[in-house]
Amino acid sequence: MTFSNETISLFQQLADLTAPKCRECRAPMSCCSSEYCEMALILAKEAETPLEPTGHPRLKLMGPNGCVAPPHLRPLCTFHLCSINNNGYDKDAEFTKQYFELRKQAEYAWGVDYSWQEKLDEDAKSLVRGTPGKSE
Ligand code: SF4
Ligand code: SF4
Repeated sequence: MTFSNETISLFQQLADLTAPKCRECRAPMSCCSSEYCEMALILAKEAETPLEPTGHPRLKLMGPNGCVAPPHLRPLCTFHLCSINNNGYDKDAEFTKQYFELRKQAEYAWGVDYSWQEKLDEDAKSLVRGTPGKSE
């Protein structure tokens, strides 16, 4: 699978939009969890842009200056912002509007690039039903 430049750019824009909020965080990166690093490593491999674990004892993709995964390869991490997650909005109304507009575009673009997954799922279902090739 490959990610379009548009998808990569939208995710980068979303990461850039939320970064200043996270810079004010009292517990930066406390939102990180090892399974998200694992997901990013798998996705990076599928996209044939493998990532190297950093050697961090708990978070495989955490480097000395933050996460080393590009935003489109860690979509759930990119979408996550505590204010949005906890309340459904940020106290900055203009930010909230920008966030959801960009997120909608990023989700759509990511889904388009990832649509091969649906084909794969269909093939798998056909095999289970004993009718391989039906989805071709
Ligand atoms: S998402 Fe939340 S916990 Fe993570 S860095 Fe941002 S504000 Fe802090
Ligand atoms: S992929 Fe990066 S942002 Fe996501 S949990 Fe791992 S270190 Fe944190």
